[in-house]
Amino acid sequence: MTTPANPATGSLSGTPVVPGVAAGPVLHVRGEISPAAIARFGDGGFADAESALAAYDDAAAAVAETFTTKAASAQGAAAEVLTASAGLARDKGLRGAVNKNLQAGHGPVAAVQGAVDQFVTIFTTMGGLMAERVTDLRDIERRVVAHLVGEPAPGVPTPTEPSILVAEDLAPSDTSGLDPALVTALVTERGGATSHTAIIARQLGIPCIVGAAGIMELPTGTFVVVDGETGTIEQGADPDEARERVEASRRLREELASWTGPAATLDGLPLKLLANVADGASAESAGVEPVQGVGLFRTELCFLDQKEEPTVDEQADIYSAVLAPYADGRYVVVRTLDAGSDKPIAFATHAGEENPALGVRGLRLSFDNPGLMDRQLDGIAAAAERTGTETWVMAPMVATVAEAADFAEKVRARGLKPGVMVEIPSAALLAHRMLEVVDFLSIGTNDLTQYTMAADRMATDLAHLTDPWQPAVLQLIAITAHAGREAGKPVGVCGEAAADPLLATALIGMGISSLSMAARAVRPVGAQLSRVSLETCEAAAEAALGAPDPMAARAAVREVLGH
Ligand code: PEP
Ligand code: MG
Repeated sequence: MTTPANPATGSLSGTPVVPGVAAGPVLHVRGEISPAAIARFGDGGFADAESALAAYDDAAAAVAETFTTKAASAQGAAAEVLTASAGLARDKGLRGAVNKNLQAGHGPVAAVQGAVDQFVTIFTTMGGLMAERVTDLRDIERRVVAHLVGEPAPGVPTPTEPSILVAEDLAPSDTSGLDPALVTALVTERGGATSHTAIIARQLGIPCIVGAAGIMELPTGTFVVVDGETGTIEQGADPDEARERVEASRRLREELASWTGPAATLDGLPLKLLANVADGASAESAGVEPVQGVGLFRTELCFLDQKEEPTVDEQADIYSAVLAPYADGRYVVVRTLDAGSDKPIAFATHAGEENPALGVRGLRLSFDNPGLMDRQLDGIAAAAERTGTETWVMAPMVATVAEAADFAEKVRARGLKPGVMVEIPSAALLAHRMLEVVDFLSIGTNDLTQYTMAADRMATDLAHLTDPWQPAVLQLIAITAHAGREAGKPVGVCGEAAADPLLATALIGMGISSLSMAARAVRPVGAQLSRVSLETCEAAAEAALGAPDPMAARAAVREVLGH
C-alpha cells in the first residue's frame, strides 16, 4: 500500500492515473447499509423459502432494471459494464445459490450474502477479468440487500457543489452518469491503473488517483486539492491558491488537447505516435487523429462473443475494415490472437487452467493448434493485399527466441513484416537475440509489469506494484530499447505506459521509436513531447531509471521537465 506522503500536514498520496488538478470538498460514496436496518429486518418474516425467494426475485429485478436504465443514458465502456452488471444481477446461477441457502433455512439477507461470497470465491480463483467483476458482485449484493430491507440504494449521493468523490473502490454503477461539472476528481483507496475507476475517469476527463491509503478516513466535506499528475491529495491548502492551480491545470489540458501534430520533439526530431484499436470502427475514428498508423490492433477483441472460429474470408473482411483507413501511406501493426487469461475466447481458450495468466494464452494457443495461427495469418495477408495498407504482424506472449523465429518464418512466407511483443521479462532480457530473427519489437508494458512484478494487472489492492514506473520495469524497457538501437530496428511501446505524457518523455529518451496508445491520449502525449528536446528526454530517462521507486521516478522526471 502507498503510505501517506506527509502525515505532518495531512497530505496523502496514491498512484496517479489521470492527470489534472481539482479542488473541493470530499464526498464519500455511500457504501454499507446500516447494520441496524439489517437487524430490524431480521429474517423478513416470510412464511416459507418460496416467498423469501420471490422477494429476492423482486429485489434482483429492481436492481437489474436500475443498471439497464443507467446503461441507456451512458456511453461506450460505461454502457457495456452496466449492461454486464444488469446480466449479473439476473444471473440464474446466483439465484440458484440464493435459493439453496433459503431452503437450508437462512434468512434472505444471509442467503444473498452467502451466495455472493460463494461467487466471489469462484471469480477470484479464476483471476483476470473475472476477478475484476468482484467489485460489481459486491455492488449487486449491497443493492439487493438494501432493496430487501427497504434502505436507499448505496452509491453516489448527488453533490450540491463541485466535489471530490472518494471511495474504497468504485463500481461501474457508481461512476456512470457522473457529471464532471459536479464530480471534479475521483480518489479511491484501492483499484489499479486499469480498474473501472481509472477507465471512467479517463472517459470523463477528470483527475484520478487510485491506491490512496488513508483516504477513507478523511471526513466528508474536508477541503482537498487533488493532483492527478503527482498523485497527492493535500489538505489545508489556501482556497484562492487552489483555485489558481485548478485554473492553470485546466488551461494546460485545453492547450494539450488542441495539439494537432505532426509529432516531433522541440528540437525537431520526428516521432511516431500510433493508435491502439479494437475493430473497424475504432480504427476509423482513430485515423482522424494525428497518428502515423496503428501500433496495436488487438484482434482477439473482435471475437470475444463468437462461439466458432471465423473462416479465413470472414477474418479478411474484419481485418480489411481496420486496414482500410490507413491505406493512405500509413501502416498497421496487427497482433495475432491474444486469447486466454483475461480475454477468454470460446474457440481458442484452454478451459480449467489453475493459473490462466501463466497458462496457454497468446502465441501459446498455436502450439497444439497451428492451424489457428495459419488461418489468421492467411486472413491478415488477404486483407493486406485487398487494402494495399502496409501491414506488420506481431505475436503476443512470446517467451523464447525459437518461438519468435518460427513466427517470423510464417509471417515472412506471406510477404508481411514480422515482429513480437515484449511482455515477458525473458523477451526483454533477450531482446538483442529476438531482433536477430524479427524486424521489430513492441513492448506491452501492461503484461511486462504484471510478469516482472508478479502482480495481477487486475488486482485492486496491488496498484503500487502494477505500475510501469517500477524501476525493474523501466530497466527492462531500457534494455529492449537499447537492443533496438544497436540492431537499427524499431522498438515501440504499446501498453498503457505510452499514454502517460510524463513517462512518454522518458521512453523517447531511452530510444523507444514509437508510442501506441488509446486514440484520446495521442494529443496530450504529442503536445508534451513537442515541448521538450531530445536531450531533455534523455535526461528524463536517466532520472527515471536512477530513481528508487515509482513515486520518486515521477518526481525526478517532473523536475527534469520543470513541472
Ligand atoms: C500489454 O500487455 O501491454 C498489451 C499492450 O497487451 P494487452 O493489454 O492487450 O494484454
Ligand atoms: Mg498484453
